Amino acid sequence: MLQLGEFMKPNLQSLVRVGGATLALTIGLAPSATAQFEKEHSVVDLADGVFAILWENMTSFPVEGNHLVIINATGVVVVDANRTPSLAEEVIAIIRERTSLPVRYVINTHWHADHVQGNAVYRRTFPDVAIVGHPETAAGIDTVLRPYVTEVDDDLARMRGVLASDTLSDERRPRVEAQVTNLEREATLYEVVEFVAPTALVTDSLRLDGSRTIDVLHLGHGNTPGDLVVYLPAEGIVAVGDLVTRPYPLLGWDAPASWSRVLDNVLAREPRMVVPGHGEVLRTTEYAELFRDLFKSLSEQVAEGVAARRSLEDLQSDIDLDRFWREFAGDDDQLFRAFGAQFQPVAVRRAYLELQP
Ligand SMILES: [Zn+2]
Repeated sequence: MLQLGEFMKPNLQSLVRVGGATLALTIGLAPSATAQFEKEHSVVDLADGVFAILWENMTSFPVEGNHLVIINATGVVVVDANRTPSLAEEVIAIIRERTSLPVRYVINTHWHADHVQGNAVYRRTFPDVAIVGHPETAAGIDTVLRPYVTEVDDDLARMRGVLASDTLSDERRPRVEAQVTNLEREATLYEVVEFVAPTALVTDSLRLDGSRTIDVLHLGHGNTPGDLVVYLPAEGIVAVGDLVTRPYPLLGWDAPASWSRVLDNVLAREPRMVVPGHGEVLRTTEYAELFRDLFKSLSEQVAEGVAARRSLEDLQSDIDLDRFWREFAGDDDQLFRAFGAQFQPVAVRRAYLELQP
């Protein structure tokens, strides 16, 4: 099964499906409530007292963002806080196996559900913890995530109605059943999510000093308007949230031109290790450069078109990003076509809007 993610909204309903691939839901096999929220992870040591916790499979439910964990002289710094509260508890258990120091800072790289919904777990477990984020991250939690809980309930009621109607065709029924199952899982999750927005706000940069230097940097609008990266200059480690994701980009490309400049700024620091928002740690900068080059090529092509007064419709057929899609898709032709058919139109539109004079 292949799915490409649109994570501007936190729900899995908005995942874009590839070609004729079907949702990986086994109708009739109802997993228990807790089994729905299990996910495999790995722990990777990056430097003395610095490690990453990585969640497998970027798009399988529940979608969970990676973590960088830094053990400092008097406390622990954790980058990103899960989508599922019980998995945030798992992360805290991993940290406690390694240190008895409390978590002093949780840094939200951006507002998407899979990076912030465990904030409340940290607040409960470590009452003195500072939740660090950009003001746009606090705004995203308050204006998108909080109302989403009600939207899930409304959508679930509506889709259950569709499922019960006599007019539903046999062809459409399995899709509606899958949607209802997805929404039921979402609703179960949101019964236990409590939203806590960052209160330690960073609009430019924040340096956390201790036994090592930790820089929290807002380098501009990339994946979201309030992206933060966490940079350890001595160790050459940078955690970039969903500015870089593996094995391929996620939709939500608000500002491709700005995004390419943000990645230029990250790459100028010549990091030795990049912790992406999803997927394995990068030990070279090649993959991050591919992201940067994709956004650069996209925005340059669109800028040329805008200067030549081409319409958005014309641009949709002008733009050629095939060499990037081939890099991400490898031999998988279905995935390659899906990038062109599903990612590209969204990406071109976003760049077109961004680059209007
Ligand atoms: Zn994410």
